[in-house]
Amino acid sequence: MTKPIHVIGGGLAGSEAAWQTAEAGVPVVLHEMRPLVGTDAHQTDGLAELVCSNSFRSDDAETNAVGLLHAEMRRCGSLIMASGDANQVPAGGALAVDRDGFSAAVTARLKAHANVSIARGEVAGLPAADWDSVIVATGPLTSPALSQAILGLTGEGALSFFDAIAPIVHLDSIDMSVAWRQSRYDKVGPGGDANAYINCPMDRAQYEAFVDALIAGEKSEFREWENVPYFDGCLPIEVMAERGRETLRHGPMKPFGLTNEHDPQVKAYAVVQLRQDNALGTLWNMVGFQTKLKHGAQTEIFRTIPGLEGAVFARLGGLHRNTFLNSPRLLDRQLRLKADPRLRFAGQVTGVEGYVESAAVGLIAGRLAAAERLGRPIAAPPPTTALGALVGHITGGHLDAGAGSFQPMNINYGLFPPIVAPPRPEGKRAARKDAGRAKKRAIGQRALADLGAWLGEPVLEAAE
Ligand SMILES: Cc1cc2nc3c(=O)[nH]c(=O)nc-3n(C[C@H](O)[C@H](O)[C@H](O)COP(=O)(O)OP(=O)(O)OC[C@H]3O[C@@H](n4cnc5c(N)ncnc54)[C@H](O)[C@@H]3O)c2cc1C
Repeated sequence: MTKPIHVIGGGLAGSEAAWQTAEAGVPVVLHEMRPLVGTDAHQTDGLAELVCSNSFRSDDAETNAVGLLHAEMRRCGSLIMASGDANQVPAGGALAVDRDGFSAAVTARLKAHANVSIARGEVAGLPAADWDSVIVATGPLTSPALSQAILGLTGEGALSFFDAIAPIVHLDSIDMSVAWRQSRYDKVGPGGDANAYINCPMDRAQYEAFVDALIAGEKSEFREWENVPYFDGCLPIEVMAERGRETLRHGPMKPFGLTNEHDPQVKAYAVVQLRQDNALGTLWNMVGFQTKLKHGAQTEIFRTIPGLEGAVFARLGGLHRNTFLNSPRLLDRQLRLKADPRLRFAGQVTGVEGYVESAAVGLIAGRLAAAERLGRPIAAPPPTTALGALVGHITGGHLDAGAGSFQPMNINYGLFPPIVAPPRPEGKRAARKDAGRAKKRAIGQRALADLGAWLGEPVLEAAE
């Protein structure tokens, strides 16, 4: 008889991982600690409980990256998507669900599956030695006992308990006729590059107005139990602004060692720097701009920065309690812990963000583990798919810029390898927005074709 795979955590990722494993014909034991041990956010004993919003976000597979991820997951027989689809509530172009119906459906289908057993109880340390294939999907609120055990394996600094997220901007939305590339004091980095940063200049009036806006901007509150400590290295930008009007100018916005190539005679009063965030060079991180400002306030205030007036944000800033691994350093492309390859990780603990992304990584981990168990190992999905783009982010796509630089991310088009935009129709000058849409559609078509090949589906000939 095939030995079971153990999945720890019956949330979004663990439920999907267990389903994919079971569907592949491999027995699986799903360990969930609730209701015996709770978390600070979960309220029920249901599997795949949605702890906050009831939305899976946009369902538009043509022009929205999370919609494309939905489409790919449906193609892979996702339990989370099927249960979401079956429990929809009206939400325009978004997929929103009745949370109780959704969780009940996931729980019932897993309970009814012949290859699944559900074990209630905390895994309060490293998994037993005879569990030779384990998927850890314990989420942002992994129990302290298991966190400590993982920390023992990975070492200090490899497991974070809070995220400190700075906004990330799509390169092609930065106005380079205002911003310029240069490293401070033209310092050449280890890669031989003296133009590693994108710099956005501010004069004194702009800086003063910016500081005022940060102080006045609407902030999110911490939840009572979050108790997030402010480390000096990652103070929210608005907290720094509150400490003194010059603090930012001597911190993340210092103007020194930089010359504006568009106006070399004028010294900027302050400079916002962006650093390349992914190996593809499509995403740029606003250095030092972690924040508790509400998303609307962030968009409004950060678009007053010269050069970022038209910024499209791949991710906005935040600060939360969140347990996650430094996955690019710790995991291989099979999502296995290099230090102990019997352990695979899935879900938010790998450094993705959101219900759908967490379930997506569960889906991949389940398939990889089942294939390995059956002696027919498979590669992770190709990087041109939304599923593969997520694996790319957590296993190497992110450029390491020192401690704390790897932060959780939602799926977005900046994680996909670029694609040449399809030609515009003869005689018609497509607006910039249309060109952007055409590019997203092309990325989606490529993704679904490549996913089909990964799934071993026959290639369909294009209709004549
Ligand atoms: C307060 C809060 C609000 C959020 N709001 C949103 C939102 O609105 N939208 C969104 O998309 N995302 C939101 N998120 C992120 C959300 O948690 C993740 O997107 C998603 O739930 C993560 O899925 P997961 O499977 O990785 O973890 P979870 O869904 O949290 O599942 C992990 C499971 O593991 C169990 N567990 C933990 N430790 C152990 C152990 N040692 N032994 C056995 N079981 C264990 C837990 O009980 C839990 O059931 C929020 C997160 C938090 C903390």
